[in-house]
Amino acid sequence: MSPRLAELERLEREHVMSTYVRQPVDFVRGEGCTLWDDEGREYLDFLAGVSVLNTGHCHPAVVAAVREQAGLLMHVSNLFYTEPAMRLAQRLTERSLGGRVFFTNSGAEAVEAALKLARKHRAGGEIVVVHGAFHGRTYGALSATPQESKQAPFAPLVPGFVVVAPEPEALRAAVSERTAAVLLEPIQGETGIHPLPVEVLQAAREACDAAGAALIFDEIQCGMGRTGTLWAYEQVGVVPDAMTLAKGLGGGLPIGALVTGPALAGVLEPGDHGSTFAGGPVACAAALAVLDVLDDPALLERVRELGLRLAEGLRELPEVASVRGRGLMLAVELADGGALELVRRALLEQRLVLNATGPTTVRFMPPLVVSDAEVDDALARLRATLA
Ligand SMILES: *Cc1c(COP(=O)(O)O)cnc(C)c1O
Repeated sequence: MSPRLAELERLEREHVMSTYVRQPVDFVRGEGCTLWDDEGREYLDFLAGVSVLNTGHCHPAVVAAVREQAGLLMHVSNLFYTEPAMRLAQRLTERSLGGRVFFTNSGAEAVEAALKLARKHRAGGEIVVVHGAFHGRTYGALSATPQESKQAPFAPLVPGFVVVAPEPEALRAAVSERTAAVLLEPIQGETGIHPLPVEVLQAAREACDAAGAALIFDEIQCGMGRTGTLWAYEQVGVVPDAMTLAKGLGGGLPIGALVTGPALAGVLEPGDHGSTFAGGPVACAAALAVLDVLDDPALLERVRELGLRLAEGLRELPEVASVRGRGLMLAVELADGGALELVRRALLEQRLVLNATGPTTVRFMPPLVVSDAEVDDALARLRATLA
């Protein structure tokens, strides 16, 4: 361990709340799919900051946009107009649901905005969510995240959430005139990359239509090109009434968004919601540059091809019982567990950055600009770790 890393560990121990279990690496630089630590060692990044660096580390176009905007105007407040925010809102709605945008600084805040919108759309209405969901750590988002270990220490939570199995029958039974919204991740990310079956999403759509409830997709992890289309919903043929975005949207800067279709575009009115930093010009300029890179049919087709290449390679590895996911949002199920140890050894011995979502599941989400050679390199490093 470098003296510098030892010092950082000491600072963390003394001054940082211990909410994270960090790996013993101090990254100082990134470019594309490559990271460097404080001693100049090179790493291959197949986590992308948990699907944040979809354009890769320090994409030149994103860096240039940030530099330029930071030198012009960094913040002015939502009491005024700035061009990056208005252009980004236009770009997002025209390329997705056709309604309007509320900007936020994070994923959880985008979920909070969605919950407020849903409750205003149907006063006092219930929010239906499914087992295995993850929607964030703030109170509303946590109340929509039915995981005992995450919720229990923080009770009482926000009332009015209904949790059902991610199955067509269960959703049909749960949705009624009392329902404000059904909130779903088309592909559940944090709990191990579980794509919800198309029948489940269709049943949710039909039940919401019949009951006048809003269908909201949380695309914070599966959106922004991650699955090989700009939005995950494009591949399942079910269009939501609203969706939440964050993670990959800012190319590394913190920004989120709630995007609606036309029906919900006017629900939130002056005074209903707000955020000091949200929609700031630097983050929005970054997001516009990110969309220039990702909203490209050739790149998205590459994501689907490389996803198949990676999945095929993973299936051939010893210890791998199954592979799940879509595009470059993949996970493997290990036959004998040991995922946390595998991830640690891959990092320290093979300099491959991965993440375990649980004791048997390893997640793969490289930058979308990854090359064939880098996919093969990751597979070789993983094979070496397993050997
Ligand atoms: C990461 C994530 C969130 C929370 O986003 P934060 O920016 O960490 O608040 C919400 N929903 C999904 C699907 C996520 O993957």
